[in-house]
Amino acid sequence: MGNLRRGHLLGKPRSLLAQARARRYISGMGEKQIINRMGLPDRVVTRAERLRSRAWMCSNCGDLTKADEPIPVPSPCAKCGRILFETVDLPPQ
Ligand SMILES: [Zn+2]
Repeated sequence: MGNLRRGHLLGKPRSLLAQARARRYISGMGEKQIINRMGLPDRVVTRAERLRSRAWMCSNCGDLTKADEPIPVPSPCAKCGRILFETVDLPPQ
């Protein structure tokens, strides 16, 4: 998990991930609750890693980004430049 931790620290802007997480987990378990229980950065990275999808839709313009394998948020949007995306569930291949 060392690479993941480095990616978390040096990679994508945290604010970007935080916004995406807020949308996806807004009705799920409380993030603070999980952090309080687990308390480790690795757990946060794991949650971010879970935020992968084979299809992302821009929340602003609806531009759809698809991939064969689950990918992280493809922001900024190629069309409008916004960074808010929503996952789109695709049927299994
Ligand atoms: Zn867009």
